[in-house]
Amino acid sequence: MQIPLLRLQCGVNSYDWGKLGQESAAAKYAATTASSDFSIENEKPYAELWMGTHPSLPSKDLETQRTLLDLVQDNQALMSTEITERYGGKLPFLFKVLSIRKALSIQAHPNKKLAEQLHAKDPRNYPDDNHKPEMTIAITPFEGLCGFRPLAQIVHFLKAVDPLRNLVGHQVASDFEETVKGSEDSEEEAVVSKNKDALRAVFTSLMQSSPESIEAATKDLVAAAESSPATFASGGTDQEITPSPRELAELVTRLNGQFPNDIGLFVLFFLNYVKLSPGEAMFLKADDIHAYISGDIIECMASSDNVVRAGFTPKFKDVDTLTKMLTYSYAPIEEQKMDPTDYPYAMLNTVAYTSSSAAILYDPPIEEFSVVKTDLNRTGAKATFDPIPGPSIFICTEGKGKISVGPKTEEIKEGYVFFVGADAECIIENTGSGEADEDVFTTFKAFCELTGKEDMVNGH
Ligand SMILES: [Zn+2]
Repeated sequence: MQIPLLRLQCGVNSYDWGKLGQESAAAKYAATTASSDFSIENEKPYAELWMGTHPSLPSKDLETQRTLLDLVQDNQALMSTEITERYGGKLPFLFKVLSIRKALSIQAHPNKKLAEQLHAKDPRNYPDDNHKPEMTIAITPFEGLCGFRPLAQIVHFLKAVDPLRNLVGHQVASDFEETVKGSEDSEEEAVVSKNKDALRAVFTSLMQSSPESIEAATKDLVAAAESSPATFASGGTDQEITPSPRELAELVTRLNGQFPNDIGLFVLFFLNYVKLSPGEAMFLKADDIHAYISGDIIECMASSDNVVRAGFTPKFKDVDTLTKMLTYSYAPIEEQKMDPTDYPYAMLNTVAYTSSSAAILYDPPIEEFSVVKTDLNRTGAKATFDPIPGPSIFICTEGKGKISVGPKTEEIKEGYVFFVGADAECIIENTGSGEADEDVFTTFKAFCELTGKEDMVNGH
């Protein structure tokens, strides 16, 4: 029988927002297994490395050059028959590395029902009928926008930032302020629901602004950012607002440089601004609004390419669908960040324990995927992963080591990607030089196992 450990060759795409040349982790990783005609061009943007079976950029077995899709369909045991049946012979998740130089579009991903409707109506812009919950783990410092700010902060900005209030409309802004006044932090269901309706009204009004009024408001906003960042200070609320006024002014200027006169500049004041340090993560369930601004990240999602966009993009925008679909949940950013836990199914050896090595689990409330990050901090540190009844993909983001399934052992270092089949025990070991005190070997493993997750559904 073939041993279910395959080194993958993964492609990188070249969207405009990607980091350039060698700056791009996605490009560097792709270069370690790319076909002989791939070389990194210094001025070219490299955005996303794709690991999986999605037909837009399918991964291949390096040795045989067969696609992973072909292999898992040929041999159902690689994914388990249960997962093969449930996901129509395709990998349930798509695993990616994103290298972000310029903001990605302001977007949300549809829930399953909406995805089916959108795909039936407009298959060109909505290429499949699947939902796309996604999880982001930073590998370098990351910044992005995610979910609506607490209401008191939005009220504050509507008062403090005149160009924003002008765009929204004074009456609409006052109506919003009246409705939420005194109940910004209430958790009572009826009140929250009323506040969400008010937020929907004010945000929809903003998003429907005409190009002319956006252009005029942008001029005023950029002038304010350049001459008096204090405009953005949190005078009207006792909550601490991030980013600081100075950072917010810098952000306005930077984003206007990337996307001049874009409604996204004003969406900034409605959404939480989030910074993730390496290893920190956030999960976006269906219909959550977000935009990524900069950094390198590991991303895992259900295997779908459905995006509803409304700003910071030259692509198709669907403002009407976006403003209707959003959850309008408002909460401090801390509530959107994930709490990784120790992964109990990877056994560390003594060297691993004594060097504070760790395997930690990012486990979103959906069945398609989870991710384990493993840091093995010294030569000889080893982690043994229990067999699971589902497929896994490993990528190494730092250092070097080896990876084994049964009698098969392969070298693994920065950028190398491996597929590990269902029911296989897998061992990874740091084989660094051992000279440095900290000689980290880091891998991320995405996997799917249905056991124990049957009762969980995605939000809606
Ligand atoms: Zn997204």
